[in-house]
Amino acid sequence: MVEGCLFCRIVGREIPADEVFRTEDMLVFRDISPVAPVHLLVIPLVHHDSLNQLEDGELAGKLLLAAAEAARRENLLTSGYRVVVNTGRDAGQSVGHFHAHVLGGRALEWPPG
Ligand code: AMP
Repeated sequence: MVEGCLFCRIVGREIPADEVFRTEDMLVFRDISPVAPVHLLVIPLVHHDSLNQLEDGELAGKLLLAAAEAARRENLLTSGYRVVVNTGRDAGQSVGHFHAHVLGGRALEWPPG
Protein backbone atom coordinates (compact mmCIF):
# COMPACT_ATOMS: atom_id res chain seq x y z
CA MET A 1 0.00 0.00 0.00
CA VAL A 2 1.31 3.40 -0.97
CA GLU A 3 0.57 6.32 1.33
CA GLY A 4 -1.88 8.74 -0.20
CA CYS A 5 -2.84 6.48 -3.10
CA LEU A 6 -6.59 6.66 -3.71
CA PHE A 7 -6.85 3.22 -5.29
CA CYS A 8 -4.73 1.59 -2.55
CA ARG A 9 -7.26 3.00 -0.10
CA ILE A 10 -10.10 1.52 -2.16
CA VAL A 11 -8.27 -1.83 -2.13
CA GLY A 12 -8.02 -1.56 1.66
CA ARG A 13 -11.71 -0.58 1.89
CA GLU A 14 -10.75 2.69 3.59
CA ILE A 15 -12.70 4.42 0.83
CA PRO A 16 -15.93 2.79 -0.35
CA ALA A 17 -16.28 1.66 -3.93
CA ASP A 18 -18.92 -0.19 -5.90
CA GLU A 19 -17.06 -3.49 -6.20
CA VAL A 20 -17.96 -5.87 -9.03
CA PHE A 21 -15.57 -8.62 -8.07
CA ARG A 22 -12.28 -9.19 -6.33
CA THR A 23 -9.69 -11.94 -6.74
CA GLU A 24 -6.48 -12.68 -4.85
CA ASP A 25 -4.63 -10.34 -7.25
CA MET A 26 -7.05 -7.65 -8.35
CA LEU A 27 -10.20 -5.66 -7.85
CA VAL A 28 -12.86 -4.62 -10.36
CA PHE A 29 -15.12 -1.73 -9.39
CA ARG A 30 -17.37 0.87 -11.00
CA ASP A 31 -15.89 4.20 -12.05
CA ILE A 32 -17.30 7.03 -9.95
CA SER A 33 -17.75 9.24 -13.06
CA PRO A 34 -18.82 6.85 -15.80
CA VAL A 35 -18.38 7.94 -19.41
CA ALA A 36 -20.36 4.99 -20.78
CA PRO A 37 -23.32 2.94 -19.50
CA VAL A 38 -20.78 0.39 -18.29
CA HIS A 39 -17.53 1.85 -16.97
CA LEU A 40 -15.43 -0.39 -14.75
CA LEU A 41 -11.88 -0.15 -13.48
CA VAL A 42 -9.60 -3.17 -13.13
CA ILE A 43 -6.71 -2.65 -10.71
CA PRO A 44 -4.04 -4.84 -9.15
CA LEU A 45 -4.21 -5.07 -5.35
CA VAL A 46 -0.48 -4.38 -5.20
CA HIS A 47 0.44 -0.81 -6.12
CA HIS A 48 2.01 -0.13 -9.51
CA ASP A 49 2.17 3.51 -10.62
CA SER A 50 1.24 2.75 -14.22
CA LEU A 51 1.71 0.29 -17.05
CA ASN A 52 5.37 1.38 -17.04
CA GLN A 53 5.89 -0.33 -13.68
CA LEU A 54 3.93 -3.47 -14.52
CA GLU A 55 6.78 -5.91 -15.16
CA ASP A 56 5.01 -9.09 -14.03
CA GLY A 57 3.70 -10.64 -17.22
CA GLU A 58 1.52 -13.13 -15.38
CA LEU A 59 -0.18 -10.31 -13.46
CA ALA A 60 -0.58 -8.29 -16.66
CA GLY A 61 -2.25 -11.27 -18.30
CA LYS A 62 -4.55 -11.73 -15.33
CA LEU A 63 -5.55 -8.07 -15.45
CA LEU A 64 -6.46 -8.37 -19.13
CA LEU A 65 -8.44 -11.55 -18.50
CA ALA A 66 -10.19 -9.84 -15.58
CA ALA A 67 -11.24 -7.08 -17.97
CA ALA A 68 -12.79 -9.71 -20.24
CA GLU A 69 -14.46 -11.39 -17.26
CA ALA A 70 -15.87 -8.02 -16.17
CA ALA A 71 -17.23 -7.48 -19.69
CA ARG A 72 -18.78 -10.96 -19.61
CA ARG A 73 -20.50 -10.25 -16.29
CA GLU A 74 -21.87 -6.99 -17.71
CA ASN A 75 -23.21 -8.82 -20.81
CA LEU A 76 -20.91 -6.94 -23.19
CA LEU A 77 -19.38 -9.86 -25.05
CA THR A 78 -21.82 -9.68 -27.97
CA SER A 79 -22.22 -5.91 -28.20
CA GLY A 80 -18.53 -5.23 -27.59
CA TYR A 81 -16.43 -3.20 -25.24
CA ARG A 82 -13.14 -1.33 -24.99
CA VAL A 83 -10.24 -1.75 -22.57
CA VAL A 84 -8.20 1.42 -22.08
CA VAL A 85 -5.03 1.96 -20.06
CA ASN A 86 -4.20 5.66 -19.87
CA THR A 87 -0.49 5.91 -19.12
CA GLY A 88 1.20 9.17 -18.23
CA ARG A 89 0.44 12.84 -18.73
CA ASP A 90 -0.37 12.94 -22.43
CA ALA A 91 -2.79 10.04 -22.05
CA GLY A 92 -4.56 11.85 -19.21
CA GLN A 93 -3.74 9.38 -16.45
CA SER A 94 -5.14 11.03 -13.33
CA VAL A 95 -4.69 8.29 -10.71
CA GLY A 96 -1.18 6.92 -10.14
CA HIS A 97 -2.16 3.30 -9.51
CA PHE A 98 -2.42 1.10 -12.60
CA HIS A 99 -5.98 0.77 -13.82
CA ALA A 100 -7.62 -0.54 -16.96
CA HIS A 101 -10.93 1.02 -17.92
CA VAL A 102 -13.59 -1.34 -19.30
CA LEU A 103 -16.11 0.65 -21.33
CA GLY A 104 -19.25 -0.51 -23.03
CA GLY A 105 -23.01 -0.34 -23.33
CA ARG A 106 -23.00 2.11 -26.25
CA ALA A 107 -21.21 2.54 -29.57
CA LEU A 108 -17.80 4.01 -28.75
CA GLU A 109 -16.12 6.50 -31.05
CA TRP A 110 -12.73 6.00 -32.63
CA PRO A 111 -10.17 7.52 -32.61
CA PRO A 112 -10.27 8.76 -29.02
CA GLY A 113 -9.61 12.47 -28.47
P1 AMP B 1 -7.54 7.93 -15.50
O1 AMP B 1 -7.97 9.34 -15.82
O2 AMP B 1 -7.32 7.08 -16.70
O3 AMP B 1 -6.36 7.93 -14.56
O4 AMP B 1 -8.76 7.26 -14.76
C1 AMP B 1 -9.01 7.44 -13.40
C2 AMP B 1 -10.45 7.11 -13.20
O5 AMP B 1 -10.68 6.94 -11.82
C3 AMP B 1 -11.42 8.20 -13.68
O6 AMP B 1 -12.27 7.67 -14.69
C4 AMP B 1 -12.17 8.57 -12.42
O7 AMP B 1 -13.54 8.84 -12.66
C5 AMP B 1 -11.99 7.34 -11.56
N1 AMP B 1 -12.11 7.57 -10.14
C6 AMP B 1 -11.54 8.57 -9.41
N2 AMP B 1 -11.85 8.44 -8.12
C7 AMP B 1 -12.64 7.35 -8.01
C8 AMP B 1 -13.30 6.69 -6.92
N3 AMP B 1 -13.22 7.15 -5.65
N4 AMP B 1 -14.03 5.59 -7.18
C9 AMP B 1 -14.15 5.14 -8.45
N5 AMP B 1 -13.55 5.69 -9.52
C10 AMP B 1 -12.81 6.79 -9.31
